[in-house]
Amino acid sequence: MNVSVVLFTSDLRLHDQPPLRAALDGSGEVVPLFVVDRAVAAAGFAAPNRLAFLADCLRDLDTGLRERGGRLVVRSGDVVEEVCRVVCEADADEVHMAADVSAYARLREGRLRRALEGEGRRLHVHDTVTTAVPPGGLTPASSDHYAVFTPYFLQWSRQPLRDALGAPRTVRVPDPIGSEELPSRRGLPGLSPGLAPGGEAAGRRRLTAWLRDGVAAYEDRHDDLAGDATSRLSPHLHFGTLSPVELVHRARRKGGAGADAFVRQLAWRDFHRQVLAARPDAADSDYRTKQDRWRSGRAARKDIEAWREGRTGYPVVDAAMRQLMYEGWMHNRGRLLTASFLTKTLYIDWRVGARHFLELLVDGDLANNQLNWQWVAGTGTDTRPNRVLNPVAQARRHDPDGAYVRRWVPELAGIEGPAVHEPWKLSAPERAACASYPDPVVDLSEGLARFRRARGGE
Ligand SMILES: Cc1cc2nc3c(=O)[nH]c(=O)nc-3n(C[C@H](O)[C@H](O)[C@H](O)COP(=O)(O)OP(=O)(O)OC[C@H]3O[C@@H](n4cnc5c(N)ncnc54)[C@H](O)[C@@H]3O)c2cc1C
Repeated sequence: MNVSVVLFTSDLRLHDQPPLRAALDGSGEVVPLFVVDRAVAAAGFAAPNRLAFLADCLRDLDTGLRERGGRLVVRSGDVVEEVCRVVCEADADEVHMAADVSAYARLREGRLRRALEGEGRRLHVHDTVTTAVPPGGLTPASSDHYAVFTPYFLQWSRQPLRDALGAPRTVRVPDPIGSEELPSRRGLPGLSPGLAPGGEAAGRRRLTAWLRDGVAAYEDRHDDLAGDATSRLSPHLHFGTLSPVELVHRARRKGGAGADAFVRQLAWRDFHRQVLAARPDAADSDYRTKQDRWRSGRAARKDIEAWREGRTGYPVVDAAMRQLMYEGWMHNRGRLLTASFLTKTLYIDWRVGARHFLELLVDGDLANNQLNWQWVAGTGTDTRPNRVLNPVAQARRHDPDGAYVRRWVPELAGIEGPAVHEPWKLSAPERAACASYPDPVVDLSEGLARFRRARGGE
């Protein structure tokens, strides 16, 4: 009987799962395999919040496979060695997996292909599993990728998408293939207390609720910090418990301005992936350098510490940084304004901020995180690279009543209304009531002047 191995990576689901479908179509039996990759931990990318979410995803995947007569095989070590070992044990002819964009993922794919072909086996890599449109599938006339979102989105919107696939009814796994224990959340140090649960079932419930109750108001409310009116599907997209192709189809079927605005955000995700696929070095180097000589030294280190801890003295910045600590997730508007504050107002290297986000974000994703950080820092694809977000103006606009700040900064919980955004303007008795809240680490106009000087007075 033919046997195939399906190597799950960032596609931890059973619905709309092209590698699994192809394996089932071609073989009598399938080994659904996940390898806990030692190299990911060694590279410092295995943050506890994501390991916890991953553990939920693997348990849920195993449950879904068992309901269909199968099970998940888990191994740990070097991915290529472990896949080859399982291929040998199962005497499999082929391996199916999803395409991915990072330099590491592509190196891994190349190594795996060579190792399998050396043994007379085949590797099939499937597109449109982790993106709706394949990276590299759309190119402008003069380049190998789009560097500006708007023309990319125009083309992206016109692309025909394949149909979404249903989940398989049965999955038969060959008997003798042993598995290690599934990883668990238990014992992981430093988890954010408000971390969301992972897994395809949780993701599908959230998606259904979002399409029913949330998406219609998305265009109007996506920037409302206190309203928390975005989908929160990002960890599910990162781990692939939801399929971007299925999301685009279902949102388009729903229709309306909210659904259109939501689909546009999914295109941003594909956009960053096609940039990283073409420029893998952008994970660590400026995409478009501005010759920045970022601040360093003791004063800079103090500012970074205050930013990380949510103690900059700018309430909306501190609220967002504390949301990140507590939930392992932050509202997009919060990400924009905290990143602008660090890179522009404090003039600190975007890599410092990107690293901190990756240590905590449950949706921490190389393409989305690094390229959004670069976008905000003005070293990326923003066509207005020197714009600076003023945290007080941002707070007044996106948290008009101050509810978001009061939710996350308990020292300021007694201050009513928008006055909470500028505690330095409070009367002496009010100020005394929130004395444990710090003074601003920087004067905004001084920060702005320093940034403009650094960028050549633009
Ligand atoms: C500095 C910074 C760092 C970021 N780091 C990450 C990260 O590590 N992982 C991550 O998934 N997103 C990142 N983003 C993008 C965005 O903030 C999150 O995707 C979004 O806040 C997730 O919440 P949501 O699922 O409710 O989004 P929604 O508003 O409901 O959007 C739906 C989906 O569209 C995608 N999306 C939305 N905005 C963007 C965007 N600007 N770029 C790319 N895709 C987007 C996400 O997959 C998101 O889940 C970052 C943004 C900034 C400014």
